[in-house]
Amino acid sequence: MHASNTPLLRHVGDPMTESANKPIRLLGAHMPAAGGIVGCLTGGKAIGCTAVQIFTSSPRQWQHKPIDPEVAETFKRTQRELEIPFTIAHDSYLINLAAPNREILEKSREAFRAELERAETLDIPWVVTHMGASMESAEEDALGLLCESMSKILQETEGMKVGIALETTAGQGTSLGYRFEHIARMVEGCLGHTRVGVCLDTCHVFVAGYDIRTEETFNQTFDSFGSLIGFDRLKAIHANDTKKPLGSKVDRHDHIGDGELGMETFRRLVNDRRLAHVPILIETPEAETMHAVNLARLQKLAAGESPGIRIKVRFFGHFSDFWPNETIVEIPPGATVSDMVAAILQMEPKLKGFEAICRAAVNEEYVPFNQLLNSGDTAAFIPPMSGG
Ligand SMILES: [Zn+2]
Repeated sequence: MHASNTPLLRHVGDPMTESANKPIRLLGAHMPAAGGIVGCLTGGKAIGCTAVQIFTSSPRQWQHKPIDPEVAETFKRTQRELEIPFTIAHDSYLINLAAPNREILEKSREAFRAELERAETLDIPWVVTHMGASMESAEEDALGLLCESMSKILQETEGMKVGIALETTAGQGTSLGYRFEHIARMVEGCLGHTRVGVCLDTCHVFVAGYDIRTEETFNQTFDSFGSLIGFDRLKAIHANDTKKPLGSKVDRHDHIGDGELGMETFRRLVNDRRLAHVPILIETPEAETMHAVNLARLQKLAAGESPGIRIKVRFFGHFSDFWPNETIVEIPPGATVSDMVAAILQMEPKLKGFEAICRAAVNEEYVPFNQLLNSGDTAAFIPPMSGG
């Protein structure tokens, strides 16, 4: 272990049994910016975030302006008042610090300096950035250019506290950063500067070809990260499940536990002692409705509890008037059809009495009400003579 390793981990004997010594596991989300940057904090707090990621400017525009000092003060005060320990910024999607086109490169460097300035104003410690794309240039040249950009920007912003967190990428198109070696090279190229950190995205590393689905592959991947980059460099983790398979290099985030990675992968992630000091943030789809659900899953996993399983439920006959088709019902693992009935009646009291009339089907087969359910099952309730 290096001297720079987090002291939080030092006194921990065995975090699995010594829960009192466990560092606080920070869990949060990238919050939608609809209510402005202060709204990201209040919205994050409302769903239980202890870490919040934001865009400090529109991520699809080159145009940007400095943060209004009054907004900055409100942001910092709100963060204190809401007791959100950790915030992090994500940079604009347009920035390419490895662009072979000189004009885009200069524009990117300027925009990224502005990203750092805005984060510094808000007391945000890290700006997450993707590692750029080689476009029509050779990957080697692009990595060299990225390193030059970073060194230059670090120098130009000397004295600032905010650092650059390089995100592992899916390797989609010509993007860099899909190998841990790429990141290790940047750290080395910047002479191990303390303002260079890393953000690991679980969806990205998986589709880039690093398996993490079993205990063995999870450990292999993180051992490799530890030896090539080091856990002291890891400043944030993006916890995203993935719709696309291992090595596909296609970046499509999915809800926690619902994609290729599955719930066990996230259980391992939030309980891994090597990662105990690293804030974990979701960037999963349907933020408005699903962030609370996905965050609760991580919180339950971290607390040693089992998150609920999700069943798609539909009704036939006149009961369907009270039930939007294929509504998801979340129930505890090990629940039966009867337990699900209770959950449904809580969601929609107008359906009272349906269970005495309807037959239950799971995955298109009639089942008794004591039938156990599994995540991903499709259930249907069918009254007699409904024709369904
Ligand atoms: Zn990410």
